[in-house]
Amino acid sequence: MIPTELSTHLSETLDLEIHDTQSLSGGSINQAVKLSSNKGDYFLKWNRSAPDDFFEKEADGLHRLSNGKSNLRVPNVISAGKAEPGRPGYLLMEFIEAGRSGNSFEFGRQLATLHQTGADQFGLETDNYIGSLPQSNRQHSEWIEFFARERIEPQIKMAIDSGKLDTNINQNWNRLAGKLDEIFPPAKPSLLHGDLWSGNYLFDDSGSAVLIDPAVYYGHPEMDLAFTKMFGGFSGEFYSGYESESTLEAGFSDRVPIYNLYPLLVHVNLFGGHYVSQLNTILKNF
Ligand code: ADP
Repeated sequence: MIPTELSTHLSETLDLEIHDTQSLSGGSINQAVKLSSNKGDYFLKWNRSAPDDFFEKEADGLHRLSNGKSNLRVPNVISAGKAEPGRPGYLLMEFIEAGRSGNSFEFGRQLATLHQTGADQFGLETDNYIGSLPQSNRQHSEWIEFFARERIEPQIKMAIDSGKLDTNINQNWNRLAGKLDEIFPPAKPSLLHGDLWSGNYLFDDSGSAVLIDPAVYYGHPEMDLAFTKMFGGFSGEFYSGYESESTLEAGFSDRVPIYNLYPLLVHVNLFGGHYVSQLNTILKNF
């Protein structure tokens, strides 16, 4: 089940003797297995069609999160490899035993602490991916500039170029863009997970949250929180935990649809369909 070139590479570079593999479902883009070996259990994922550096970027994001200010758990990365001729890119990490439930309040509090990890600029020194799409992290000193130029506009362009959106979206977007300075409260760059929907965290067997699949950059902290509202799945206790550590500026719920233009556009680019009408409704409301 694991491509032969990959299992050979793992045994040569890490002395891994693979005893057993168990296929895991739930991943949206990659193939994933629980791997039992002479050195214990690991989580391995790979993808033959991902960009060459896809898993290196994911590993980089996980490292950045684990070096952040909070003690939020992040799986230890054992090894990540670029795609090479004949071998897919891959990520090998600690296997997290999932628990039945977890402490959402503590998760929220830890996320607020993670967001206290700061930087001089919005963005990151390196680009990465959101889902399977490229994510530009070119740095800006102003949040509004970063949000417009690196988050919304590249996705609009991609959607227009592929025929998923009509060019008249630009008019609606430009009208909203002109009002962004009245909409966003000032913020310093905060380390973000970047793709925080309910499929991208799990609770371990001690009930602690574990972050997976990040699309890390320094951004407005409300961006991560808005993302949690996109498909739901985060409890009231999670938000109480967040607010026990950080104060949310008034009017956050009104700003959620603006932040979520980004994941919506990502969804338009990945899936098209009914996300387009949702997008137009938001743009027309502002
Ligand atoms: P994809 O990148 O394809 O979306 P994920 O990283 O989300 O794949 O992983 C697929 C599933 O495997 C997830 O639903 C998650 O529950 C589980 N998973 C992810 N990372 C680990 C890990 N380190 N240990 C155990 N299970 C994991």
